[in-house]
Amino acid sequence: MRIENPYDKRGTWLRGSFHNHTNNSDGWFPLETVYRMYADYDFLAISDHDKITDLDGERSIPTVFEAIEVSSREPHMLLVAPPRSILEGYSSEFSIVNYQRLADVTLDNGGICVLVHPNRYFSNYWNLEDMLQMERVTGIEVYNGDGNIEYDIAFDKWDAMLSAGRRVWGFGNDDSHVYGQEKQAWNVVLAEENSQQSILSAIRSGSFYVSTGFGFESIQTDDRQISIRLKSNKLLDRMYKYVTLFGKDGRVLHEETGRITEVTYSCMGDEGYVRVSAYIEGGYAAFSQPLFINQR
Ligand SMILES: [Zn+2]
Ligand SMILES: [Zn+2]
Repeated sequence: MRIENPYDKRGTWLRGSFHNHTNNSDGWFPLETVYRMYADYDFLAISDHDKITDLDGERSIPTVFEAIEVSSREPHMLLVAPPRSILEGYSSEFSIVNYQRLADVTLDNGGICVLVHPNRYFSNYWNLEDMLQMERVTGIEVYNGDGNIEYDIAFDKWDAMLSAGRRVWGFGNDDSHVYGQEKQAWNVVLAEENSQQSILSAIRSGSFYVSTGFGFESIQTDDRQISIRLKSNKLLDRMYKYVTLFGKDGRVLHEETGRITEVTYSCMGDEGYVRVSAYIEGGYAAFSQPLFINQR
């Protein structure tokens, strides 16, 4: 058995959101205000609808990314670090061919492609069949902070794609448009350094997790065992945690609750993948990427 562990590397944990709007599209605030909303983040992408917003102006955020939210009347797709040439002959019309072409141009440029808010059923959602037809994407947005929580969570579609054999990472983003939507969900990335290249490279290899307020210290593996160390300090250690490990088809593999700081799980070999969700009293959570389990 071999466990593919995307967290088995050195680095520092960096916090950021890849999906945020300004008044260059339908956000309420100019770029400078959005920078201030996220002043303590390590990185931030600005992803206006069908536009690449110029990232000028003063900011305390060390790393910022140009991005674009491809916004058809049907599904939306987030491209981070697309080449500027993507705007030549640009169309946001939804077809798998057009969306995959835009994704490919971005991926070939070293950027990333995320299928966003797949379950926002009142508008711009993804059908699972269309998601599966997108052959090359970095991941899907499993947690979107824009308002109505029930529409913005997509763990079901993530498990469906993973169970179909697709290697897609889960993202958490605010999709912020107004005050009050900032810092609902973010990505915590294990990067070698705080630079565009290190962050994108860590993302491509799945070395990050999604947080809404809780976290992991580390996730370690040996031949068959996964050891998850939960975010720990004197205060957190006194609080109740609810940890669930999911495998193929969303099957619950293991659950532990209590004032725990660590969970270990011995793999059987038939899990397909193992992903971890950890909640702390109050509802804050951390969601790991899948660790793929190879039977031989
Ligand atoms: Zn959108
Ligand atoms: Zn958006």
